Amino acid sequence: MNRTLAIIKPDAVENHRSGAILAHLEREGFVVRAARLVRLSRAEAEAFYEVHRGRAFYPDLVEFMTSGPCLPLVLERDNAVAHYRAVIGATDPAEAAEGTIRKLFAESKGRNAVHGSDSDENATREIGFFFPEHELAGLWGQA
Ligand code: GDP
Repeated sequence: MNRTLAIIKPDAVENHRSGAILAHLEREGFVVRAARLVRLSRAEAEAFYEVHRGRAFYPDLVEFMTSGPCLPLVLERDNAVAHYRAVIGATDPAEAAEGTIRKLFAESKGRNAVHGSDSDENATREIGFFFPEHELAGLWGQA
């Protein structure tokens, strides 16, 4: 079992797609280990997407990710990073395969419904961005 960081992005939250996306993910065998509805500040969105700073779409991306609440999730299953990437589909919904989350729910390349970590290393960093280790451990520890 391993983990990935997913975010249901502001477009999907606003369009009331969070429940449908969570159901899709649970059907795919992912277990929701943590979830939190958050409104990112500009500084937080800039830091989360630091790797894209300087790209033409970076200002639009930061604007979009701060435009409303989003729902970060820690998801667990075997081969979590690769399987999640397959389930969400290509960045641009116009290029995403039939039945993928982005094909089903994304509006455009920018407003594309969900985020997903692209490696185990980035999953660890991104999970830590939203969920402190002690908080995660506390969720599933002994009652
Ligand atoms: P991902 O890993 O599939 O999310 O894609 P990337 O890491 O390449 O890009 C990160 C995010 O930036 C994407 O999910 C989009 O929300 C946004 N993005 C990427 N390319 C573009 C673009 O050409 N235009 C706009 N508006 N947003 C983009």
